[in-house]
Amino acid sequence: MTVARSLVGQAVGVLKGAKSLSVLTGAGVSKESGIPTFRDADGIWKDMDPLKVATLEGFMKDPKFVWEWYIARMNKFKEAKPNPAHKGIAFLEGKIPQFTLITQNIDNLHHDAGSRHVIELHGNIWRTRCLKCHEVERMESIPQKSPPQCQKCQGMLRPDVVWFGEALDPDHVRRAGEACDVDAFLIVGTSGQVWPAAGFAHEAKRHRAYLVEINTQESELSSIVDLSLLGRAGEVFEQILAGW
Ligand code: NAD
Repeated sequence: MTVARSLVGQAVGVLKGAKSLSVLTGAGVSKESGIPTFRDADGIWKDMDPLKVATLEGFMKDPKFVWEWYIARMNKFKEAKPNPAHKGIAFLEGKIPQFTLITQNIDNLHHDAGSRHVIELHGNIWRTRCLKCHEVERMESIPQKSPPQCQKCQGMLRPDVVWFGEALDPDHVRRAGEACDVDAFLIVGTSGQVWPAAGFAHEAKRHRAYLVEINTQESELSSIVDLSLLGRAGEVFEQILAGW
């Protein structure tokens, strides 16, 4: 699916002209790296009940089962490499003076691609948090034991990701809110169904940012964007960089 050159040219013009840019990404940005999204036809929630593996209640009921599911995801994530969309977003950070990346993804691929100014709204699968002492640790390796234990206090560890019904880190919300006051706001591979993440696009609109969306199909945010590039994120970024 190739996007019309005139639309790509329009997007390049907006991005090149922006002194400040924020990017909001969702699961679609990692799809071409082999990581399934949540809500597409072949998405994760097709075979798994989110209440079982993505709520604190589900975790407390059966931590072993939830950890085994996360360990299986980690084994898949471990193989994944950044695609041209992750790399293109890192390229934009090097070009635009005031840049923030707000991601809903937990896979670390933006960091792997070289993005530095990243707000991980929903946490990171490669970190654990202790339910007893609340210590957050980066994982050195994929846990062998399920559920793994805290090295410091022997409390039970959970993945450091935000589950349904849980609040986002207020500092992340504040920083992401501030990052909505920009010239341009780029939305990549998100269905716009998860709040408060989707709200940042609306906030940027209120600040009169020029909104560009990249998605394979219309999303909940399509009605508010100024420019829509319908295509696979990696391929669209290849076109954007070719036209830069
Ligand atoms: P979502 O599953 O609700 O939506 C994915 C969106 O990506 C859809 O709009 C779809 O049309 C679009 N898409 C699919 N393939 C694409 C491609 N190649 N290029 C561009 N767009 C494409 O995901 P969401 O909006 O991110 O929200 C749900 C939650 O998913 C978030 O909380 C996030 O933490 C979690 N999640 C993260 C990962 C990851 O870290 N990679 C994977 C799955 C889910």
